[in-house]
Amino acid sequence: MKACGEKHFTAGLFVGLRRVTKGREKGRKTMIIIVKPDAREERVHDLIHWIESQNLRTHISAGDYSTIIGVIGDTTKLDEELISGLDIVDGVKRVSEPFKSANRKFHPQDSVVQVGEGKALVGHGGFALIAGPCSVESEEQIISVAKSVKAAGATMLRGGAFKPRTSPYDFQGLKADGIELLLEAKRETGLPIVTEIMNANHLPLFEEVDVIQVGARNMQNFELLKELGRTQKPILIKRGLANTIKELLMSAEYIMAGGNENIILCERGVRTFETATRNTLDLSAVPVLHELTHLPVIVDPSHATGVARYVKPMAMAAAACGADGLIIEVHNDPPHALCDGAQSLRPEQFEDVARAVRVIRAAAAEVNGSGSANPLQ
Ligand code: PEP
Ligand code: MN
Repeated sequence: MKACGEKHFTAGLFVGLRRVTKGREKGRKTMIIIVKPDAREERVHDLIHWIESQNLRTHISAGDYSTIIGVIGDTTKLDEELISGLDIVDGVKRVSEPFKSANRKFHPQDSVVQVGEGKALVGHGGFALIAGPCSVESEEQIISVAKSVKAAGATMLRGGAFKPRTSPYDFQGLKADGIELLLEAKRETGLPIVTEIMNANHLPLFEEVDVIQVGARNMQNFELLKELGRTQKPILIKRGLANTIKELLMSAEYIMAGGNENIILCERGVRTFETATRNTLDLSAVPVLHELTHLPVIVDPSHATGVARYVKPMAMAAAACGADGLIIEVHNDPPHALCDGAQSLRPEQFEDVARAVRVIRAAAAEVNGSGSANPLQ
């Protein structure tokens, strides 16, 4: 493109974009601008700069074939037809969903969350196999479970230090001491650690934690989500007991709106009329989420079923339908576990599940023909 063309573009844009589309589009619909693959970088920057000067935020997703500019804010002030007419623009779409940064339309490629300085990658073929006890109970317990799950192929160690228990008389977790023990297990095994936060005031204790878990009961603790948005830690956010997929995405959006895009979503079953299992595992959430969002999606078959013998079939099913990982409770002595013993696997059972999941993933990749376990790719 010639320099004089650029001048024209800039001048035209500045005059034209000020025109307000009156009354047609009430509300604050997000806009997506698909930029042509051969567009000159300076001209794309001009466009972004101009949009931002209108008090609008942009979210840029640069892919192999096109760049997408997501525009967040009151986009009614932008003239859609005029932008579509720019020679560097391939198309413009309005997005009606309330989740924006999490929306796949904003970011067509799968996001990959890096954990523990790249020790584990989650998403786009990176599979998280997270295992460990519901609660950290003692040094011997967490170190021995950590060693055995690592040997079985786990990529991260889980363990609750702050426990959200239904009864105030039940074991509430070892709290700060529990985190210390997890860090010791991390030093021993090299496994990144995942543990739940219940109160934003505890954040300083989580400095060396690799992934902060937001439990189902806190999925809509918006003040906590906002605080986590101010960190750059990977956040594993679980679907609430009675929350929709869209509500889960809105919770992720809270974290992303604060600037933290390192989010892993987790389907862990929802409450239904069924009593044979602890919850009802909504596996259809996996493909639905993959369609709606670029964020990785993992499955928790332990809390979903509440029964150790159902964990393997549901873990296999999750791997078959394209989950980006699993989080599974493993205890060295389930009958004596201080929390969730009924759903906890013994280390050798976990080893069997890990093997089965590897087989299923390889088969799914073959069936999908894309080398990916995600059927949507
Ligand atoms: C847990 O992971 O131990 C836990 C309490 O999970 P959830 O929030 O899914 O119930
Ligand atoms: Mn548990």
